[in-house]
Amino acid sequence: MPSLDPAIPDELRAGFDRFRRGRFWSEHERYRRLDRDGQRPTALVVACSDSRAAPETIFDAEPGDLFVMRNVAGLVPVYEPDTRSHSASAALEYAVLALEVPAIVVLGHGRCGGIAAVLDERDPLTAMDYLGTWVAGLRDLADGLDAEDWVDPARRHQALELQSVEQSIANLRTFPWVRSREQTGHLTLHGAWFDIGLGELHGLTASGWVLLPDA
Ligand SMILES: [Zn+2]
Repeated sequence: MPSLDPAIPDELRAGFDRFRRGRFWSEHERYRRLDRDGQRPTALVVACSDSRAAPETIFDAEPGDLFVMRNVAGLVPVYEPDTRSHSASAALEYAVLALEVPAIVVLGHGRCGGIAAVLDERDPLTAMDYLGTWVAGLRDLADGLDAEDWVDPARRHQALELQSVEQSIANLRTFPWVRSREQTGHLTLHGAWFDIGLGELHGLTASGWVLLPDA
């Protein structure tokens, strides 16, 4: 049987000790309230699993502020009403129907490895190739990129990162309870893209992607 000692890596243990002595102690009233009253997050954020693009960090969020669903490339699948296990759709369902979040933000980011997997002509990682299957829905988007986007690899990569966010928002609207709440004004859908190196946030508007100014 594999050893469970140490139970967690030393770096995480040290981090938890800092958290418990620091934030948990100084904000224990907030944690007590969240424990007693439950969570009322202001938004569901759909984001990539990438270690550099944590929504709680980027949006400087407090505990209880954000309900976060992360997966490779931060994708929302299309609505599939069958009996298979759908992790992303379950998180979406809970956020919208149980927590009644008023907003959903799909957050893309620069240098996304999941997006690179779509563009690179790489051999499958495994016989099952879970990653390749997960991002396969972006292949049509990659094939449809403008000719000028194909000139430069970095530009091509970013263009697909942005279009992936737009596709996930379109996929959100395939869920009937998302669509109906958006139509009645109880839910708003948003797209954003984080530039890791520059620390800039771009937002999807009716006229396209714009660099969001300082608030
Ligand atoms: Zn990513």
